[in-house]
Amino acid sequence: MCGIVGAVSGSSVNEKLFNGLSNLEYRGYDSVGMCLINNGRFLLKKGVGKLEEVHKKVDFLSIPGNVGIGHCRWSTHGGVTEKNAHPHLDCSRRIAVVHNGIIENYSELKEELIKKGHKFHSQTDTEVIAHLIEDVLSQNGIEKATRLALNRIEGSYALGILFAEEPQKLIAARNESPLIIGIGNNENFISSDVPSILGYTNKIIYLEDKEIAVLTKNSAKVFDLSGSVKNKKINIIRW
Ligand code: GLU
Repeated sequence: MCGIVGAVSGSSVNEKLFNGLSNLEYRGYDSVGMCLINNGRFLLKKGVGKLEEVHKKVDFLSIPGNVGIGHCRWSTHGGVTEKNAHPHLDCSRRIAVVHNGIIENYSELKEELIKKGHKFHSQTDTEVIAHLIEDVLSQNGIEKATRLALNRIEGSYALGILFAEEPQKLIAARNESPLIIGIGNNENFISSDVPSILGYTNKIIYLEDKEIAVLTKNSAKVFDLSGSVKNKKINIIRW
């Protein structure tokens, strides 16, 4: 097991992501990474090893930005290397993806995308998601492009997705892998579990399978994979 976190906020998120990842460490992992958006560009740091070890080398807390995603990886496809650590990007470096789970049909999708000219940088199944979205992004907005890509994927996923050109938004989705949304004050979160973000909010929305969430710092909208709005309950956690 392993975990993902994400935050979109009115203030800096590096420490929130770092604390979230640190709270997910109990799940076991082999590498970690974080990506934030600053001035319309991704700032990405990742490495093999424990959070504290990698942090000593890359200084996660120095990454500026009010929106970001973080990941601790338990590798299933591709060795334990820095290249295979998440987040993964598309060719144009406009889309960043963190993923927990397994994309069962990744090799067919990868072959198809390579024929279309996409260049892969890792051996992971995850990277196909970034390229699949990239492939349909120019004719669709980020939300529809994400939906179209997810409709082609078979397997399990908890996803956090960023678009460099839309730094006010964080997109999340799940299928057969845990993912929750935290509703904060002028900020919203995603995480693999509730305790990891209880320091920031106790208002939780439970995502269900095949749901996509579009978060800004002040809103959280959930859709199914056909784009219909889902009305979700906000649960107040009193643990
Ligand atoms: N299958 C992906 C990989 O090997 C994600 C693994 C995970 O859940 O951390 O990179």
